Amino acid sequence: MLRIVFTRILLTLSFISLVAPAFAQPAFDSYRAYDDLVAQCDLGPREPSSMGALKAIAYYQNILEPLADEFHLQGFTLPDPYSEGQLNLVNIVARFQSEKTDRVILCAHWDTRPRAEYDPHEPDKPIIGANDGASGVAVLLELARVLSVEPTKPGIDIVLFDGEDYGKPGDLQNYLLGSRYYAENPIDPLPQQVILVDMVGDAELSIKIDPVSYRSAPRLVEEIWMIARNLGFDQFKYSFGDAMYDDHVPFIEKGIPAIDIIDFEYPGPGNHYWHTHEDTPDKCSPESLEAVGKTLVTWLYSQ
Ligand SMILES: [Zn+2]
Repeated sequence: MLRIVFTRILLTLSFISLVAPAFAQPAFDSYRAYDDLVAQCDLGPREPSSMGALKAIAYYQNILEPLADEFHLQGFTLPDPYSEGQLNLVNIVARFQSEKTDRVILCAHWDTRPRAEYDPHEPDKPIIGANDGASGVAVLLELARVLSVEPTKPGIDIVLFDGEDYGKPGDLQNYLLGSRYYAENPIDPLPQQVILVDMVGDAELSIKIDPVSYRSAPRLVEEIWMIARNLGFDQFKYSFGDAMYDDHVPFIEKGIPAIDIIDFEYPGPGNHYWHTHEDTPDKCSPESLEAVGKTLVTWLYSQ
């Protein structure tokens, strides 16, 4: 994702709705989620057309297909903007209660960056993407296990996007390749709400509110931040961060309320692990995955 506008405005929101769970909540196992983060990194960099990407698709399928009511590999091909070849991309879709028309998409990008442009060492080599790639997927794989135990009122689509992080800096049209394709070619029906998780593994987690998300879905942001506060997860901050150009944007452009839960300070405001070879599992923690995972479980079962 990219930072598109620089805003740091203190929020004075009125967080009014206390949310009580309507359904029994299965447990979110943050250590199992962290194991999924490490296991993805052990597959190697997972940029398009890499050996790591092939292994990752098999890894996700092995976990998600038995848990979900429907499982899809949505393959598509685009011309590679940076070579003469083709990009073969795959979105991964696991649907729960696929008969329901009231639906929520929970999504993350699974690809990792093919270059490390902010690293002084080997900037042309692909990154391992522990936080920027594996962390969001790790939360969603564990959420899939939760959803397989107990149904929620809305149907849920877990969607893992390919090609989020392919673009070179400033080349906006070559980011968000998978989410753009999915927003144009969704597995029907389209959802009423979209929740994206990205860069949620940072051991020093600090999740500010993305102004793009708040403009799209203020009520949804307020619900999620209120739940986090009630659960004692002070990693969720009541202030605006940078505006994000991320996988939620193609859905907002389709008129679907969509939010991005993201910590774009990795590990602090300098963001100096981002798009470098320092983005490794030791900079991430189960506690951070837990703050996001348990907040989402509580929101899902209060719908
Ligand atoms: Zn990235």
